[in-house]
Amino acid sequence: MQKRVVIVGAGFGGLAAAKGLVGAPVDVTLIDRTNHHLFQPLLYQVATAALNPSDIAAATRSLFAPRDNVRVLMDEVQAIDSAAQKVKTSESGELPFDYLILATGADYSFFGNDQWAEHAAVVKTMEDALSIRERLLAAFEQAEKEPDPAERARLLTCVVVGGGPTGVEMAGAIAELGRTSLVADYRYIKLDEIRIVLVEAGPRILTAFEPGQSEQALKALGNLGVEVQLAASVSNIDDRGVTIGDRLIPAANVIWSAGTKARPSAAWIDAAAARNGSIIVEPDCSVPGQPTIFAIGDGASYQDTDGKALPGLAPVAKQQGRYVAKLIRARLAGAPLPGPFKYRNWGMMAVVGRSKAVADFGSIKLSGFVAWLTWSLVHLMLLIDFRSRSSVYLAWSYAWFTRDRIARLLTRKSVPNFQTPSAQEKRI
Ligand SMILES: Cc1cc2nc3c(=O)[nH]c(=O)nc-3n(C[C@H](O)[C@H](O)[C@H](O)COP(=O)(O)OP(=O)(O)OC[C@H]3O[C@@H](n4cnc5c(N)ncnc54)[C@H](O)[C@@H]3O)c2cc1C
Repeated sequence: MQKRVVIVGAGFGGLAAAKGLVGAPVDVTLIDRTNHHLFQPLLYQVATAALNPSDIAAATRSLFAPRDNVRVLMDEVQAIDSAAQKVKTSESGELPFDYLILATGADYSFFGNDQWAEHAAVVKTMEDALSIRERLLAAFEQAEKEPDPAERARLLTCVVVGGGPTGVEMAGAIAELGRTSLVADYRYIKLDEIRIVLVEAGPRILTAFEPGQSEQALKALGNLGVEVQLAASVSNIDDRGVTIGDRLIPAANVIWSAGTKARPSAAWIDAAAARNGSIIVEPDCSVPGQPTIFAIGDGASYQDTDGKALPGLAPVAKQQGRYVAKLIRARLAGAPLPGPFKYRNWGMMAVVGRSKAVADFGSIKLSGFVAWLTWSLVHLMLLIDFRSRSSVYLAWSYAWFTRDRIARLLTRKSVPNFQTPSAQEKRI
């Protein structure tokens, strides 16, 4: 009987591992709780009505040929019996494995304040992005008919928490959406009523970049009308807005992009975990003491040669996925094993609004329009297929020349109601 490889998670890492095992003498089962592979780096553009969901996601099974040795299962993994080598799923029962690759990614962490999650949106899944889009658009609709100035101000304020690349990109895109595209469509909403605040607990934004690049990004955000509050620690988030120390910023929309934690796969296999819950792995990405189980991507903590854990980035997950596939192929063939995993760092980028970015490629640092152009080309190339690349290219070109947003329809019956209980009482 052929050996069985089970891969949990069809994100960047899991998909790369499955692709690397196509044609190998193994039966591969790729399980994901969604039916699509998602290009998370562009989620914020779906959230801000610049792209449609199908532009950045593809049905996972469409990425494999029907005769490939990869079976795609839409299901949720609930537990793992490592001794019996079985994965327990919600609907498909128990799946036996000879090799297991855990690629379950990460979730947002509210640093022990889980009650904030009720009032702060995160951008991790397609549902999250669509819900943010709906909330941003609905807040404008409600503000247009709101006579109370204080309530209008709250409706038109959005606070983004976390000055890393996701927060910076999100704040810039919301500013473009609200202050450039939407404001022109509403008769009673004025530009100076729209407030986008980016809150960062540290002394500067984009700390992974050089201070000069953080400064450039800060300036670019300022030009877009984003108010950046540095050294500002959030002490509370509730239905009124965000509190910094004892100062409340009334806001109908709050987006949290401040910290991540790995999904609970370490507990499934009783493995040692880093502080953020990710599984500490060996130099070959296997779990210590469990050589047939591997953890990759955001769910793994891999110490590079300099002793630092690799960052939670798509290229890390992809390269680890490819590496583990190669290792399993070598083990199956009894061939010499590849050496330890080595991350090839191509650099990092963060985009600010419609035409500015910062990019750090080691000795080459770019900023402004050139960095944005590079960012756009790189992201177009990284999208999963030709269809996504063409539709994103068209959408970006259209938006660049017209500043219009293609995807701003509110389609659900239950449009969010932002009124706080106290505002509702006033109305009654
Ligand atoms: C908004 C945002 C912007 C980002 N921007 C960038 C960027 O610009 N550049 C960059 O390099 N990185 C970026 N990242 C980070 C990058 O997306 C991650 O590092 C990468 O997705 C990690 O890949 P992964 O395979 O480990 O996990 P993921 O890609 O998150 O995939 C995990 C998969 O596991 C599935 N899953 C989880 N639990 C279960 C379960 N119990 N059962 C079944 N399936 C399960 C999930 O549905 C998901 O499909 C961004 C992330 C976010 C959220």
